[in-house]
This record gives sequence, structure tokens and C-alpha cells, in this order.
Amino acid sequence: MASKKLYINGIVQGVGFRPFVFQLAARYGLAGEVANTSSGVRIHVEGTVDNIAAFCREIAAAPPPLAVITDIRAVDAPSAGHTAFTIVPSTERAAARTLISPDMAVCGDCLRELFDPGDRRYRYPFINCTNCGPRYTIIEDIPYDRPKTSMAAFVMCPECLAEYEDPASRRFHAQPNACPVCGPRVTLLDSAGTDVAADDPISCAAALLAAGKILAVKGLGGFHLAVDAGNATAVARLRARKRREEKPFALMTPDLGAVRRIARIRPEEEPVITSPRRPIVLLEKRGTQTIAPAVAPQNRYFGVMLPYTPLHYLLFDTGTASFTALVMTSGNISDAPIAIDNREAVEHLSGIADFFLVHDRDIYLRSDDAIVRHAAGRLRFIRRSRGFAPTPIFLHRAVPPILACGAGLKNTICLTRDSHAFMSQHIGDVETLETYRFFDLTVRHLEHILDITPEIIAHDVHPDYLSTRYALMREAPAKVAVQHHHAHIAACMAENRLEGPVIGLAFDGTGYGTDGAVWGGEVLIAGYRSFERAAHLAYTPMPGGDAAVREPWRMALAYLAGAFGDTLRQLKLPMLLKLEKTRMNTVLAMVQKGVNTPPTSSLGRLFDGVAALLDIRYTTSFEGQAAMALETAADPAEEGYYDTTWSDDADGRRIIRIAPIVRGVVEDRLAGVSAAVISRKFHNAVVRLFTVLCAEIRRDTGLSTVAMSGGAFQNAILLKELTRTLTREGFTVWGHTRVPTNDGGLALGQAMVAAATV
Ligand code: ZN
Ligand code: ZN
Ligand code: FE
Repeated sequence: MASKKLYINGIVQGVGFRPFVFQLAARYGLAGEVANTSSGVRIHVEGTVDNIAAFCREIAAAPPPLAVITDIRAVDAPSAGHTAFTIVPSTERAAARTLISPDMAVCGDCLRELFDPGDRRYRYPFINCTNCGPRYTIIEDIPYDRPKTSMAAFVMCPECLAEYEDPASRRFHAQPNACPVCGPRVTLLDSAGTDVAADDPISCAAALLAAGKILAVKGLGGFHLAVDAGNATAVARLRARKRREEKPFALMTPDLGAVRRIARIRPEEEPVITSPRRPIVLLEKRGTQTIAPAVAPQNRYFGVMLPYTPLHYLLFDTGTASFTALVMTSGNISDAPIAIDNREAVEHLSGIADFFLVHDRDIYLRSDDAIVRHAAGRLRFIRRSRGFAPTPIFLHRAVPPILACGAGLKNTICLTRDSHAFMSQHIGDVETLETYRFFDLTVRHLEHILDITPEIIAHDVHPDYLSTRYALMREAPAKVAVQHHHAHIAACMAENRLEGPVIGLAFDGTGYGTDGAVWGGEVLIAGYRSFERAAHLAYTPMPGGDAAVREPWRMALAYLAGAFGDTLRQLKLPMLLKLEKTRMNTVLAMVQKGVNTPPTSSLGRLFDGVAALLDIRYTTSFEGQAAMALETAADPAEEGYYDTTWSDDADGRRIIRIAPIVRGVVEDRLAGVSAAVISRKFHNAVVRLFTVLCAEIRRDTGLSTVAMSGGAFQNAILLKELTRTLTREGFTVWGHTRVPTNDGGLALGQAMVAAATV
């Protein structure tokens, strides 16, 4: 006989861990108890040595689906003379520091019951259990307990209560437990918000979708706007009403078979799209006629997800309509936060949606769908949100309590506690009052439910970001302004558990530099505490500032002026011939006189400019559109490149000259070389340039670790080829796999820099 205590850390509360342990103990005939503690779960077991060993093995090998075990420690303990196995009720204090589970898709067991005519929850759209369902988005307060969730409004019926109290039930302490007798209900509303009396609102909604109507559908983390993806007229109407010209719409397909009909799915992508976290996965399109072209125009990919709420499954299974895919795009107007409240949805979306499929389970905190893709052999986040937040990033060492406020676009915030970095769900572009309010709410809510009072507040050095202003307004013992690209590299170091220093390649569109210029093509020698700017793209004027971001032709003119001077007017480039002469002259005059032309070293802008020079895009309707189109255009077989050079400035920094690249592009263009070939030669030039630069910097510094970060690494050619060439040169190369490489991952780096600075 033996007696052991086990201490288990990770996401082990609110995920059915104690009943799992209870049943496992019963199976092995062990006595003892299991209790929640402030950091996880504590188990005491008494029984035979063999059975205890098997019990421990099984906990580690097959924990409940939503559990994440970060650490198990087993120690011998004196016997307490237990005669049975019991679950110790949790105390308020113990549960306060629980790791909260993200929202998860309906599980297989619940799905079987959903479609079993004999089950009491047959076709009940809110079926869930401890292994699935809403979590983060319904929590108002801690500890995670029904009265502190938006399920508080529903009193469990005797049958549900019996399940809730039975340790042998899959619904033991499942806080959102509900059934048709006692739980939330679905209602169909018309565009004015009036109840449409329908026996089966979901069937009715499906029929309306089949008839080409636009529906606002309340989901887990907010509303979606849905239309039949096969109906070109409906998709066009949604684009017009949502005022979203070209940015791709996400799709939801009924099952994996339907995914395969519209997109190519590689073996490594299958577990991602079917995972209970249910992100949107970018998959290569198939040449198919079933999806309206306007869903993702001029794009090689579809963003596809599988149904994740019982309601989604029912919508695809009404018998009245069948869809290969539904467009399921965020329920918002242009860049406002996604709607979550029924009344708010009707108010804001009545000009877009013809009908609303709503329910009365409130969403407390909105959380957009996450977006991922497979690139360069690994899973990459484009947006880390519903299904992932608020699971922490596990750091390699403990840091003080910090709030990092992120940047301006694609904002997320980060809160730290010990060795946990909690990244928020996607907040969005913090540029409007609505988004700022959501930002503020998310900060306060996360601080509250994670029980964190920040000792340090970290923010971007950009003085005009609303996130910076928020940080400056708040009271805190210490504040740290972190340079944007330093934060990018620190984020990459943190998620890969590096101490540094490293050679940091920070490539993106925009980041405020310490000299006030717009940085974005930066080679840094960086640790957490400080960085040095080792090399960067030569400054080029951005004619009109932000206007040059939306109109890449302006950047193209600035690059041409830099490479050709006045002779650019003689170039017979198609772009120059097509441009309106007065606008062209205005912009050239701005460049010449240096009026309203902030200098930039951004690599993102160079990609934009080349896209314009190749007549791929003169203007954009969403961030990164031109650069993405340039990547899409590239001929994968081309191996040529353009020459690149740099020169040392007074401070010993290497300044990368852009003119030779631009001259190469223009010469090829005038010689009639295809845009596909030029695009790939340009990519190759950038890869070659930074590979050679890194090798030089290694000679100077002895550093052989490279960290790559910034939005430009969403470009798969850049990511893959730089990883390949640098690895071949003997570098250890790190990119992002746990947080986005774009500004959605920035707050993590800000927090790490702040921790090292104060
Ligand atoms: Zn379930
Ligand atoms: Zn019930
Ligand atoms: Fe950035």
C-alpha cells in the first residue's frame, strides 16, 4: 500500500478535471480526495503501489479534452486513512487564480445527443457539457461559477441540476448546463427587431438564407453576418451593405467533405480545422463554381471554418435547405467591434441584415473568430482570439504584474502574472470610440478575472495611438514606452523562450521609430532590455503620409524619384502612362520639396510600391492588400534576383539602398518581363539581401540566432525562404507560432521589454 500527493498545474479547473479524477480513482480502487488550489489541482490517493502508478500515468496521458497540464508533481505523503474518494468543494480564494478555459466547439458526445431523437436535448441549440461549450465569453466574474456567468438568469430544472451535482455525469459542474425546459431559447427577428413567430426559428432561418437573405446570427463570441456563399447576388448585396469592397469573407462549411469540395486541405491542416478551438483556416482554393467569386476576390485562399456551436450544426441540418458553405463574416459595420447584444445588433446591423437569429444567453465579452494558416511547416496565427484566448503563453521565467497595451491596428493586450502571459482576444483597430471602449472594457475585465493589478504599464512609443494615450492616463507605479520593432523581436524571443541577444529581423508596414521616422525594414541587435539598430532600409518619403499607405502608387513614385531623379518622367512605364498628370505632379512636387512626406524605412511600403510598379494594385481597400497581391503574383519557379547594396552611415549602421532594386524592377518591366517573374525576383532579392546582411552582422557580433517578426512575415515566401537560406548559412532561426507575427502579438514583446527595463 502507498499514499501519494499530486500537484497538477495548468488549465485544470472548469474543464471537468475533478470528476475525471474521481472516476479514475474509482476505476483503480483508490481512496483519497481531489481539491482545487490557487494554482491548479491537488490530489491525495491511497491504494496499491501499482494502481497509484497506473492512475498517475493515465492522468498525464489522457486528461479531459479541455485540460492543459503544464506540470505534474507527485510526492509521497503520510496516509490520512481515507476510506473513500471525495471531491473537496472549492473555496472562493482557491478558485480566484484559476486559468480560465477558452470557448470550445460542441463535443462529439453532445453532438450525438443533439441528433438523437430519443435524447431530451434532441435539437436543442445550447447543449453543452464540461468538455465543451462557452467559457470565457460568458464569464462576468470569478470564481468561474454559474451565478457569475450569463447563465445566472436561467434556473436549472431538476433533471439538469441532478446532472450538475453528479460526479459521474459529463455535466458535473458544467456551468452553462441547460436543456429545452430550463435553458436559453432561439428567436427569429425581422430587420426592425420584431419577433417573427416561427415554430422552428432555425429551419426558418435556413430557408431565408437559401432564398438569398442576409442573416445576423448570434454565435459564441458575437454576431456573424451570414449569406449563402453560392449565391453571387446575396454575396454582392452583403458587400455593398457592409461597405466592404474586397477583403475576403470567411466561410463555414457543414463538414470536412464540403471543405474538400471548395479547397485543398493538406494532411497537417486537417487536425487544425477540426480542432475544438475551431479557428478559421486559410486553405488553398480549388477551381470551383460553387462559391461566388466575390467571397474572396483575387485571392488564392479561402478562410474556412467548421460549425462550432450546436446552433451552427442545426442551421446546416434543417432539411429545408442545403449549403456547400455559408459566408460567416463578423457582424459589424466596417471596423467597429463585432456586435454581441441583441438590441445593439438590431440597432447597428438593421441596415445590413434582413433577419436576426438571436438567443437570450448573453455574451459578456466579445471574441472574434481566430484565423490561422499553415506556412513554412508550422501553424501560424493571423489572429489569436476565440478558442485560444485567454489561454496564457507560458514564459520561461516569472515576470512582475504588467499590462502591455499593444499598438494601434489589430490590437490585443497582454497581462502577466508569474510566468504566464495572458494575451487578450482580438480587439481590432483602436481608432474609433467604439473600439476604444471595447479595448478599455477588455483591459478592465481581464485584470479583474485574472486578479492582476499591474505594477508596470507598457505601451508603444507612438504618441498618437489611443492605446498609448490610455497607458499614459492610467495610474501605475511605472510606465515603459517600448519601440515598436523592439517589441516585435521581444515577442518572438519570448514565445520561443530565448534570452538573447539575437539578430532581429523586424519587417512590417508601420512602426514609430525613436527618431520620429516611420520604421519597418529593420535589422536589430536586440535583447529584452535594449536594442541597437544595425541596419535598415534607406529612408524614402511617404507622399501624403497615411495616404501613401492607402495609395501605393504614391510610394511607387517616391521610389522612382529616388532611383531615377527627374528622368523618371521619360520612363515608358504603364503605371506612369495611366496616372493622371496633375495628381502625379502634385505628388512629385511633395517629394521634391519634402512637404507632408514623413520618411519611412518600411519594407511593407516597398512591397506596396513594387505592386504598383507592376500594375498589380495602385490603391488598396484594406491593410496589406497590395503586398499580398504581389506575393500571390510571384512565379514559384523563378530563381533570379536583383542586386542589392548598402552603405555605412555616420553611426556605423548599414543603410540598405533601394534604388538598385527599383532600377532592376523597372528595367525588367520595360523589357516586357512578366509581373510574375519580376515579383519573384524581387522576393528573392529581399531574401538574399537579409541573408548576406545577417552573415555580416554575425561576423561583427558573433551572434548566430535570428528572430523574425512583424506583419511582413505573413508573406509565406519571405518566411519560408528566409528560414531556409539562414538555416543553410548556419543560423538558428525563430519565427512566430504562438502569437501572431503581426501587431496582434506585439503586446507580449512590450511586456517582456518592460519586465527587463524596470
Ligand atoms: Zn459536450
Ligand atoms: Zn434543464
Ligand atoms: Fe508592426
